[in-house]
Amino acid sequence: MPAKSAAAPAADAPSRAPGSGESQVQRALKKLGLVRDIDFALYLPMRYEDETRVVRLVDTRDGDTVQVEGVVTECEVVFRPRRQLIATLDDGSDTVQLRFFNFYPSQQKQLAPGARVRVRGEVKGGFVGRTIMHPTVKAAGTPLPLALTPIYSTIAGLAQPILRRAVQAGLARAPLHAIVPNPMMPQGAWGLREALSFLHYPAPDVAVATLEDHSHPAWQRLKAEELLAQQLSQLQARRERAAQRAPALRAPVDAGSLHAQLLGVLPFQPTGAQQRADREIAIDLARTQPMHRLLQGDVGSGKTLVAALAAARCIDAGFQCALMAPTEILASQHFGKLVGWLDPLLAARGLRVAWLTGSQKKKEREAMEAIVESGEAALVVGTHAVISEKVRFRRLALAIVDEQHRFGVAQRLALRGKAEGELEPHLLMMSATPIPRTLAMSYYADLDVSTLDELPPGRTPVVTKLVAEHRRDEVIERIRGQLAQGRQVYWVCPLIEESEAVDLRNATATRDELAEHLGDAVRVGLLHSRMPTAEKQAVMADFTAGTLHVLVSTTVIEVGVDVPNASLMVIEHAERFGLSQLHQLRGRVGRGAAASACVLLYATGDSGRVGEAARARLKAMVETGDGFEIARRDLEIRGPGEFLGARQSGAPLLRFADLSTDLLLLDWARELAPRLLDRHPELARQHVDRWLGTKAEYLKA
Ligand code: ADP
Ligand code: MG
Repeated sequence: MPAKSAAAPAADAPSRAPGSGESQVQRALKKLGLVRDIDFALYLPMRYEDETRVVRLVDTRDGDTVQVEGVVTECEVVFRPRRQLIATLDDGSDTVQLRFFNFYPSQQKQLAPGARVRVRGEVKGGFVGRTIMHPTVKAAGTPLPLALTPIYSTIAGLAQPILRRAVQAGLARAPLHAIVPNPMMPQGAWGLREALSFLHYPAPDVAVATLEDHSHPAWQRLKAEELLAQQLSQLQARRERAAQRAPALRAPVDAGSLHAQLLGVLPFQPTGAQQRADREIAIDLARTQPMHRLLQGDVGSGKTLVAALAAARCIDAGFQCALMAPTEILASQHFGKLVGWLDPLLAARGLRVAWLTGSQKKKEREAMEAIVESGEAALVVGTHAVISEKVRFRRLALAIVDEQHRFGVAQRLALRGKAEGELEPHLLMMSATPIPRTLAMSYYADLDVSTLDELPPGRTPVVTKLVAEHRRDEVIERIRGQLAQGRQVYWVCPLIEESEAVDLRNATATRDELAEHLGDAVRVGLLHSRMPTAEKQAVMADFTAGTLHVLVSTTVIEVGVDVPNASLMVIEHAERFGLSQLHQLRGRVGRGAAASACVLLYATGDSGRVGEAARARLKAMVETGDGFEIARRDLEIRGPGEFLGARQSGAPLLRFADLSTDLLLLDWARELAPRLLDRHPELARQHVDRWLGTKAEYLKA
């Protein structure tokens, strides 16, 4: 569609909607993170269009995006097969048909026979004549630009020409002087202004692919500066943490220790990976600086045991440990086993486990708070309730947070205030959504990572199958087969975010349908997030005990549920689930020795097809069972911002550099960062401010 550029307000003086302090354009720009001039200058095009040349029609090929100039020889509106505007353009070398399904009277006028115009679009065909669908149209003879035209990623309410002009203005105004002296930059790096001007408006003879894949030399400067800013901010955060103090937890691990006794009551041997993680944590805990460690591992890799061992070390040293999960059912399901191991051992020491959850009765809650405050509760398990203001610990030294991505920065900060006096607690975060190493390094300012890269022995790989919704009957047949072998089955219904009531109705209908098909001897249970906690726990207990055979649920079983006898997982409307979520769900089966399967039922909707992203997710599920590979693909499909969750998207991610290909630049930045911070702290501050601005604050949490 032709841009009405003359009518667009100037970007630096946006028109204000009456009564609002901020124009719609400003709001949209802010949403894109574009506030300061430098933000605009660093907002680089996602692609380019070449409007610098006009070509001859005879020289074009099918699929080329081209610009041609000629005379309109015919123009008419036809109504069959549907209403459209068709014009014929002759450029002297050949003719092309221009077609518009949506058009304005002004466009029809612009294309009146005899008019000389310049059109741009993708040429199709060639055999029965060339066609361009919905070309952009301008008057012929307007001067050709000297550079490629940048196309920026934009959002609703912000037209490309307006954004383009705003970026151009920001680029012209932004202070782009060298903060880091040029001799310190990698050899051959372009100047910042030079690099940015080029990347916004490249010369037409450039190999566009090298711009788009960031391999062009102009990119080097930007990547280097970005990596340096990242390294500097990480280093600053690390130094700030180094100045903080935590209780050093150094109790000897002898035969009488809780740690040793816990290992003694386990029905299995810890894996090598678990032992390694335990040792890494022990070293951190013995320091007087707070630990800040992420424990990541695929579903079923046994993170809970590592958490329990860390808790034992903390308690052995005479301190309290808090353990938190994002929801109540997860807290109890997830930590039930751990508490089962530790409770008797603690009782022998006159210590207890305290539970703290939002749904607790006031009296019970107060009793729990009292034993937390007195120190009798060596281990405090629960939801966010654990960090509520009322809860006072006597000697908190270690906080363990499960599914850390569901906790916000504010909650992590609240935790920090719970230790004694000026001390900070050690922090162990656990994640079942492995973060690819490069992303962890670039995203988490100051975080050590332990990885469980080994599954406990005896697991059988889960076979994953895609089944179209209309073959639901076969799936029910499959369920019968599993039940006949004494196995249990999960059936997960999709979450339709807008309405829990609808979810509940769907899940209930599915439960009834399965109960009807499977007969009276089979017990089918239902689990839904709206059910009272006690009821949920009762259903889970029945399923764990094996008295329920099939469990229909919404995604409440997503994490933490552990029923080794379950051998089949059916996920309905799998196309609606996120990739990591599907993988988490699949992780509920294959926990015992029996061969297990995961059936992804998908529906195609009105279009008869599954969308592209959904197809990529389902394909990944069938092709791999490895959580790290899943995470990598998920990152690829969603992009880093969404991958890490909206809550954390305020934090700076690498936009330009790619740690998998820019290792040399990363080395350079790593090496320079401490020198710059020590010798030129003011330059370091200015550099971080230029690149991260207000976002730098996030790094400290
Ligand atoms: P995660 O939280 O990492 O998904 P869990 O901690 O829930 O995994 O452990 C999954 C299951 O494996 C649990 O039943 C747990 O008791 C069991 N498990 C943990 N470690 C081992 C081990 N070393 N050997 C055998 N089973 C283990
Ligand atoms: Mg877990």
